[in-house]
Amino acid sequence: MTITSAVYPGSFDPITYGHIDIVRRAKKLFARLLIAVVANPNKTPFFSIEERVAITKAALDEVGITGVEVISYDGLLIDCAKAYKVDAIVRGLRANSDFDYEFQMALTNRDLDSDIETVFFMTAGRYSFLSSSIVKEVKRYGGDVSSFVPGCVEQALARKFGH
Ligand code: ADP
Repeated sequence: MTITSAVYPGSFDPITYGHIDIVRRAKKLFARLLIAVVANPNKTPFFSIEERVAITKAALDEVGITGVEVISYDGLLIDCAKAYKVDAIVRGLRANSDFDYEFQMALTNRDLDSDIETVFFMTAGRYSFLSSSIVKEVKRYGGDVSSFVPGCVEQALARKFGH
């Protein structure tokens, strides 16, 4: 079986150019790509799930990425993959501490369903230290995040912080 479709899950709280870099890379490989904005119970999200879906869609529009479906999902990732009939899970790897956690998740998901492969894309060097948390931290104190996120994301952050 040839893998043609994938889901890229994450908190996307909010989406950054790092995530977008992974989306562009994954689009080259998969004919069908879904972004699943997940309610991660281990993290208290800054933006609601509805806001994160809307911001993610707006960000993709702004950077001219078409043909990527954005959904929200609450539950097991493997069940999401099955529900949307995709064969692979996409994750991004940064320079720092992603590996151990991603390795653990990928092996757990493989135990749960060995037919669904996890595929990793390495980020571009300039985004390898970029995270949603850093963007929020900088924007909280009024810093310029325009090299980290599209304009619509920066505006959503500014509104949320009441700037
Ligand atoms: P999660 O809460 O699932 O870690 P995130 O939205 O933080 O959700 O990240 C989703 C995926 O995107 C993860 O695989 C993460 O490693 C990857 N990612 C996040 N930021 C970047 C970045 N700057 N470059 C590449 N991948 C990234």
